[in-house]
Amino acid sequence: MVLAEVGRHKGVFLVKLLQAQFLFSRLVPRLIDRAHALGFEVTWGDAYRDPRVFGNIGEKKGYGHPKSAHKQRLAVDLNLFSDGQYLGTTEAHQMLGEWWEQQHPMARWGGRFRDKKGNPASDGNHYSVEFEGVK
Ligand SMILES: [Zn+2]
Repeated sequence: MVLAEVGRHKGVFLVKLLQAQFLFSRLVPRLIDRAHALGFEVTWGDAYRDPRVFGNIGEKKGYGHPKSAHKQRLAVDLNLFSDGQYLGTTEAHQMLGEWWEQQHPMARWGGRFRDKKGNPASDGNHYSVEFEGVK
């Protein structure tokens, strides 16, 4: 199923993408466990963004970055809560984000994101695995 959806690519690329997806899916349960261990409750934000709705990699359709790891099943946005209160800031994700980055060399936290000019463009609830430069 995954392979068919990215069928415009071939061979090695597909295998690598699938391996990255497997890796990400292995790491996400630990991320949620860690959030709970830090005293947070979580809900899902965006996980997979279907290219039929959001466009293929590089294509701007709907909201979100044209080159988004969400389109490759390699990102999740987690909503953090503490004492029933939604925590919408990047700072609230800092501890969890820094922990996530240590879990694998390709693990990326949106709290580090910058715009094209190098200015901070935080996306603190975004947790991903980088693949082919997309994070
Ligand atoms: Zn995201």
